[in-house]
This record gives sequence, structure tokens and C-alpha cells, in this order.
Amino acid sequence: MACQQFDLVADYLQIPHAERDRIKYPKRSLTVALPIHRDNGDTQVFTGYRVQHHLTLGPTKGGLRYHPDVTLGEVAALAMWMSWKCAITGLPYGGAKGGIACDPRQMSMTELERLTRRYTQEMIPFIGPQVDIMAPDVGTNEQMMAWIMDTYSVHAGSTVPSIVTGKPVGLGGSVGRREATGRGVGYLVNRAMDTIHLEASKATAVVQGYGNVGSITAWSLARYGVKIIAVSDALGGIFNHRGIDLLTLEAHVAKARTVVGFAEAEPITNEQLLLTPCEILVPAALEWQITEANAAKIQCRILAEAANGPTTPAADRLLEQRPEIFVIPDIVCNAGGVVVSYFEWVQDLQSFFWTESEVVDKLFRILEGAYTQVLNASRKQKVSMRLAALSLGVKRVQEAKRMRGLFP
Ligand code: NAD
Repeated sequence: MACQQFDLVADYLQIPHAERDRIKYPKRSLTVALPIHRDNGDTQVFTGYRVQHHLTLGPTKGGLRYHPDVTLGEVAALAMWMSWKCAITGLPYGGAKGGIACDPRQMSMTELERLTRRYTQEMIPFIGPQVDIMAPDVGTNEQMMAWIMDTYSVHAGSTVPSIVTGKPVGLGGSVGRREATGRGVGYLVNRAMDTIHLEASKATAVVQGYGNVGSITAWSLARYGVKIIAVSDALGGIFNHRGIDLLTLEAHVAKARTVVGFAEAEPITNEQLLLTPCEILVPAALEWQITEANAAKIQCRILAEAANGPTTPAADRLLEQRPEIFVIPDIVCNAGGVVVSYFEWVQDLQSFFWTESEVVDKLFRILEGAYTQVLNASRKQKVSMRLAALSLGVKRVQEAKRMRGLFP
């Protein structure tokens, strides 16, 4: 998907063929075997990956995913998207991504700690605060980031908070990082509502994936006055046309570790959820959710891509024939996470920490700039929001590579 999108943009921008491979292919890809002791005494070997897409604008930056389906190809695609995202928001980074093929729900905390530390150890020649900086993604959280920072620091012989972002605030994390992606999605949906003249108080939203990004997005939209009528996670979804009370849902999720079984809503499947009529549809789980099979049938006014790669290129072609749907493409929609990760890195390097209002204010300014540029480019050149966003990102990387030249 990422390669198909790149090829389309390269044609659109008329990038000379001689330059294309240099922009497209990941600079470095690493696969590691990760043997750990399971709690029952067995030894199990997991596979871990890290891909650094380009090093032209600074160190690389990107999340670390724990999921059974993680592959090198997926990680490479996510790294490429990170490059365009950082370029659109003007961050001094190339894109990266990492992952371990494992099911964190089936592992104890001690096993996850051993796995995270072993992965970090294997990555040591490959990462650093000026080389490659990790952050949370699907299946990872602040605790894993704390273990990464600790393992790297023990190796370095001194505390190095800037090796990772999305850490606990008590260890040099930034206030507002955990909420940043969802808060950014909320902000951009609000901007999109302005753009298409939709009133928040009359809008309903459906959120697929009630993890970090999905749950904070739901809260953020609710604060703007939007009614949340359906949410889901990997185990299933729930629906209530009168609206879901997020506070009561939070208490249920804290106990049950899933939205399924919530008493004040009816169960629905993830497939039904995506087709639920609403004003705002937010895929906030994994890739490949809006496909050729359902793109003609989704019933929303705004498609806010909180997840990375939720819409396939075939679905994109169908969506282009549905101008009533306004798409906020993933590389803009979920950029709040990497923007505040950048703030965290800057604060760590300076050992000087900001207040939450400073973080949120600076975040919204950057997202506003990115959104306006993409919207203007899309209108001026009469292309989709995705093509506008990708072309801005790719062009910046291309220009940087041109200016630096080619060594030797
Ligand atoms: P998370 O692990 O906190 O949450 C993921 C959620 O999706 C979980 O509730 C899980 O049960 C659910 N899920 C998994 N498979 C599903 C399926 N088939 N159907 C419905 N729900 C399913 O992860 P997250 O950090 O919230 O990341 C979600 C998405 O946002 C990913 O695509 C990630 O790459 C992207 N993203 C995350 C960040 C960040 O800061 N965490 C930043 C940018 C983009």
C-alpha cells in the first residue's frame, strides 16, 4: 500500500525515475531473534524488526508495535508513512517503525519486560537520541518505554531520557504525550467540521479501536459536543443510538479490559460498526479496514483516519467517487502523536520541561498549519486530501535529498 501510494505521488509530482528509488526504499532494516524465558521455564524465540526509512533530515522517529501479525513489510510501510508525516508537520526527522511479532495479551508483565529489554539490547547499535528514537504504538505503552529507556541507560552508563518518547512523565516524559494523538484527531475533526459546515452538537461519531488513540479521540470529540454512538476493540463492538456515556464505559473497560459486555449498549461486530450511519467515522485500530468491499457502503461525512493505513488504495479510488465524504488522511490525522513526541525529545535534550497548556497550544498550532496546507493544496490542485498530503510530504523529502546531494 505504501509503495503504491508512493508510485502514484511520484507520477503526480513527476519525480524523475532516477530519484524515485532513493526516496522510496528504507535506508536500514533490521530483523532480530529475541530469545526469552517464559514464566513456565520454557525458552521462546520471538522475531523483532526495526526499519529506518530515511536519514536525510535528522534522526529517525517512530513507534514500536507488539502484535501477532507484525512483519518486516508492515514495519517498512509504517516507517515510510512516518517519513511523510514528519515532513508535513516540519519535524526534523525521518520515519522509522519497529515491531515484535507477539501477542501481549497472552504474556505476563515479567515476560513483556524481558522481551522489551532483550529487543532494546539487540537494537543498541542501531538506535540513539541522535540516531533513532522509539515511541509507543499498538500493544505498547509508557511502561515499555520506561524499560527501553532503562535498558539503554544502563548500557550507556548514564540516564538517557531522550532515547525514547511516550515515557512516564516522572521519567522525563512530556505531559500531554499520552493524549496527543487522540487530542490531535479531535482537533482536526473539529476543523473538518468547520470546513464542511457540520455542527458538532448535531454530529454522531463511531470509533473503531478503543485503545489509546481511539479512546482519547472519543473523549475529545465528546468535549466538542459530538455524540459517540459506537466503539469497538479487537473483541467486538458496542452501539447505542442515544449515545455512549464515556465515563461509565471507562469504568467497564478498567474492569473487563474490553468494551464488550458494556451493559448500556447493544453488541455489534466490527464489520457492522464500520457501516453504521454517522457523521464522523474514526478507524483507530489497524490497517486495511476500509477496503474495496465496504468503501462504497460506509455512511459518514468525515472519515478521520486515526490509525495508520486504514484505507486501501482500491478503497481510495471508490472514495474519490464519493465527494460527500471528507477524508482526513492518516499522515495528517494522527500526526499529533509524533508532534508531541518531538516536544518530549526537545524537552529531554534541554532538561527543561513545559506545562500542559504550552504542549497543547504548540501542538494545535502545528496541526493547524499542516491541515491548512493540505486543504489548500487539495483545493488548488483539485486532488484528494490524501494525494495533497502525500505530495507535500514526499516533495519535502525529495527537496532535502536534492539539496544535500549524493555522497560520494
Ligand atoms: P492500542 O494498542 O492502544 O489500541 C489499539 C486498539 O485497537 C485496541 O483497543 C485493540 O483491541 C483494537 N483492535 C485491534 N484489532 C482490532 C480490530 N480488528 N478491530 C477493532 N479493533 C481492533 O494502539 P494505539 O496506540 O491506540 O494505536 C491505534 C492506531 O493508531 C494504530 O494504527 C497506530 O499505528 C496509530 N497511531 C498511534 C499513535 C500513538 O501515539 N499511540 C500515533 C499515531 C498513530
